Amino acid sequence: MKNIIKTAALLILGSGFFYSTNAQKIQVVNGKSIVNPYYSRTNTQILKIPNSTWKKVLGGDLYSVSRLGETEEAFTGKYNQFDGKGNYFCGACGNALFRSDAKFGSTCGWPSFFEPIRPKSVIYKKDESYNMVRTEVKCGRCDAHLGHVFDDGPKPTRKRFCMNSIALEFEPLKKSQN
Ligand SMILES: [Zn+2]
Repeated sequence: MKNIIKTAALLILGSGFFYSTNAQKIQVVNGKSIVNPYYSRTNTQILKIPNSTWKKVLGGDLYSVSRLGETEEAFTGKYNQFDGKGNYFCGACGNALFRSDAKFGSTCGWPSFFEPIRPKSVIYKKDESYNMVRTEVKCGRCDAHLGHVFDDGPKPTRKRFCMNSIALEFEPLKKSQN
């Protein structure tokens, strides 16, 4: 799968007074800008959206990884060698997933974290594909595939959340939060 850099832009819809919690997102799908109405950084309501609908609002690589469970090529993801300070959100729905201070320099080829931002940010599912038994990590809000978790991470959790950059979206901390 090609590693296409997503060119989505954020757009706050509404007046900013009445709809400030309904931040939606423009995602580029087949060269067209499409509003993702399920995207929110503040709404934690669980989403049950069929893939046929997601396909209309998510771009190619994001759809392939988050909805079809594909894996980006090792060492190609934009967050693999990246140490910006901030938070990582689900690229499909905007759910907060990881803090940069839980990210560590793994050599596995994908961005790795030792814990999620909140226990319920992610959910776990047994994955027996490719003749392996692994634990799949999915978004706790929209059920997007994010990656897998392994027991060979650093202290304090010894976990390695091995994530696809394509499924994540990084938001740097504002200067006042540093
Ligand atoms: Zn999500």
